[in-house]
Amino acid sequence: MTPAAATLASPGRQALDSALLQLDQAADRLHLDDGLRTMLATPRRSLTVSVPVRREDGRMDVVQGFRVQHNTTRGPAKGGIRFHPSTDIHEVTALAMWMTWKCALVGIPYGGAKGGVSVDPASLTTRELERVTRRYVNEILPIIGPDKDIPAPDVGTDEQTMAWIMDTYSVNAGYPVPGVVTGKPTTLGGSLGRAGATSRGVRIATLKAMSGSPEGRTVAVQGFGKVGAPAARYLADAGCRVVGVSDATGAVVNHSGLDVEDLRAWVEETGGVYGYRHADALSHEDLLELDVDVLVPAALEGAITAENASRIRARLIVEGANGPTTPEADRILADAGITVVPDILANAGGVIVSYLEWVQNLQACSWSANEVDTRLRDLMEEAFDAVAAMSAERGLSLRQAAHVIGVGRVADAHRMRGLYP
Ligand code: NAD
Repeated sequence: MTPAAATLASPGRQALDSALLQLDQAADRLHLDDGLRTMLATPRRSLTVSVPVRREDGRMDVVQGFRVQHNTTRGPAKGGIRFHPSTDIHEVTALAMWMTWKCALVGIPYGGAKGGVSVDPASLTTRELERVTRRYVNEILPIIGPDKDIPAPDVGTDEQTMAWIMDTYSVNAGYPVPGVVTGKPTTLGGSLGRAGATSRGVRIATLKAMSGSPEGRTVAVQGFGKVGAPAARYLADAGCRVVGVSDATGAVVNHSGLDVEDLRAWVEETGGVYGYRHADALSHEDLLELDVDVLVPAALEGAITAENASRIRARLIVEGANGPTTPEADRILADAGITVVPDILANAGGVIVSYLEWVQNLQACSWSANEVDTRLRDLMEEAFDAVAAMSAERGLSLRQAAHVIGVGRVADAHRMRGLYP
């Protein structure tokens, strides 16, 4: 694609181009043949649905919904559902592909999937949101299920969304099916420790990537949602000084350190970090460019690009979000000696504990928070060590190494299963 065409592409298309380029580079390193490359670059199943929604004033709107199962060779498809106005089929496909490599990298028996509805949840009442969720789930019902494809929360969705999905699916089945979604409330079979699991994984990845003690290390976090806010809290608990945070409403900085819990209470009360009293305001761009030890992008794709990468001053970037760094930015950061812990490793804690939740549901049992956390830590550390070893052995960046391992395991599974018929 020409640079001019690239700038015209939607953010979703750019994310998919990044994912395909990363796959291509991993396939080169693994010497995969053309047929296997094409298999891995092509989603197994893509569904686009229309979701009609009755608004409170009686009007009917129609929004688009998507579910993409990128790969099911290593197990049932697994991946979150995003409610966001700019979600499109390309973005959902990219996110599904990253899920495939992520599950393989951390060694859990899933393929990759993702779903999305192109809607702004903030523009809907709770009842409208429930109707959108249930109708969307009804439309994708034939392809999801505990043995087929298991959704989870992502941007703009939460425990309540998962409860509605579990209920819609169960009512259709005629009996309760808790294993159809993860990230549910614990009263419906959700796992202890699922909320915050992605962020605890981010903390594990950060501490592993950091040389030396976390005490006093400065941190900036972009995105203060389900991943970013607990990540800020866990890093502060580990001894770091969280100096800057942003969300969709604005960005704030306090070089003496933010009181993360107080900021969360402010966000709870006002709806965003904007206007927080115990910090100065700054622009979204400046937040990313703060002179900090660690930057945690935990919002959307394409935050760090060729345009701003040369101004990033963090020494370590830990990708809480999926796809926050473009391939051009990756090259600039590598040249500047900045370490990037890639998304498919750094934010894998969420899908790890989703897997643990699903296993508990299938066995109709419930594990202690401690047991869940120990398993999370073991799987994260094992994956991190494998990536670091591959990176050192082959002179690759952590992202390149993570992709070689993830893509390589899926390619091996394809070879072993063979091609039917
Ligand atoms: P969320 O909806 O809970 O939070 C998103 C946050 O990003 C919000 O605070 C929002 O205000 C903020 N934001 C949006 N645009 C922004 C901008 N331009 N600048 C700064 N902040 C902005 O979503 P989430 O679940 O926390 O997901 C965030 C990222 O983490 C996504 O990339 C998602 O795919 C990834 N992720 C989530 C999970 C999970 O378990 N929720 C797991 C793995 C990866």
